[in-house]
Amino acid sequence: MQSFIPLASPDIQEQDIQAVSEVLRSGNLVQGRQVEALEHALAEYLSVPHCIMLTNGTATLHLMLLACNIGPGDEVVIPAFSYIATANVVELVGARPVFVDISLDTFNIDTQRIEQAITAKTKAIMVVHEFGLSADMAAIKAICDRHKIIMLEDAACALGAKEGNQFSGSIGMAGSFSFHPRKAITSGEGGAVVTADSELANRIRMLRNHGIDATKPGKMDFIAAGYNCRMTDFQAALLHSQLKRIDATLERKRAIAQRFLNEINHQYIKLSVLPAGKLPSWQTFHVVLQGDLKQANVIQQLREKGIGTNYGAQCIPAQTFFAQKYKYESAKEFPQAYIAFTQGLAIPLYEKLNEDQVSFIINTINSL
Ligand SMILES: *Cc1c(COP(=O)(O)O)cnc(C)c1O
Repeated sequence: MQSFIPLASPDIQEQDIQAVSEVLRSGNLVQGRQVEALEHALAEYLSVPHCIMLTNGTATLHLMLLACNIGPGDEVVIPAFSYIATANVVELVGARPVFVDISLDTFNIDTQRIEQAITAKTKAIMVVHEFGLSADMAAIKAICDRHKIIMLEDAACALGAKEGNQFSGSIGMAGSFSFHPRKAITSGEGGAVVTADSELANRIRMLRNHGIDATKPGKMDFIAAGYNCRMTDFQAALLHSQLKRIDATLERKRAIAQRFLNEINHQYIKLSVLPAGKLPSWQTFHVVLQGDLKQANVIQQLREKGIGTNYGAQCIPAQTFFAQKYKYESAKEFPQAYIAFTQGLAIPLYEKLNEDQVSFIINTINSL
């Protein structure tokens, strides 16, 4: 008998625990040298000048929008299929999210549909690299340049993902990462913003720490009503320890994903299409159920056989808050996002899975 295979399982190793213990023993728990060291390491890994660690991925998205002065009267274009946080932060700054349908081949925003969503009020596009696959950045950047709008990246799932030789998250004006346990490396809760713009970096540092002027270290001057979004030093140590083996982690995840792509073979399961030139981080392996395979039944059947699965992300305009506020009919207006939400299935994919477990997942799915 196989033991139950959960949908996700963080890979915390002995040396990670050791790194946390050392910080706990040092007595310095709040943001300090560990956070600073991690910011340098992450910036270097992604080849970006600035990295700011924050409390979680939602806070990074939120402060990114605030730092870009996006607020009431502005519109932000986002994909209709993502984690709910992508849209919530737009509401939280008082702007309006404008949803665009996705492609069912990649689960990313349908680039062809972006321009019809742009109005005189559009201030930014928040690109999401869904499940760790880069969106079509060259095409999206051309649209942003043409309409003079800001390109931001929700790269929560995409640490280590690439398009060509550019890392996801490092291409837009700013990029956001999450370190929730469902992501490749984790600090429990945690997030990072990266940017090449030093003024933007300073504004985010200022907003992170009660509005303190980040350009004058040592001088306590509060120049805005800021937040407290600081990461703790022991979280930074936990993350930094895992960051040291990120290449091996991603390599293992890519090998498992390749087996799924090669070996999952079911007439009613649609696999995603991997566009040339893109290297995903495979935060989630996500398929679409068709024919007589119904999402709730499949989740239940797989659970009984010992495999944890779930839907992968939300059709955001179909969620009660957005549907009521903006009167969306999602099944008609965002049909692909609606299908991805109601017929999508996320399958376990993490580095700790051994080959037998991967075979078991494949065989069980193929015999549905
Ligand atoms: C995980 C995730 C977030 C939110 O990150 P948290 O760290 O959980 O706040 C935002 N957007 C996307 C696309 C995500 O996958």
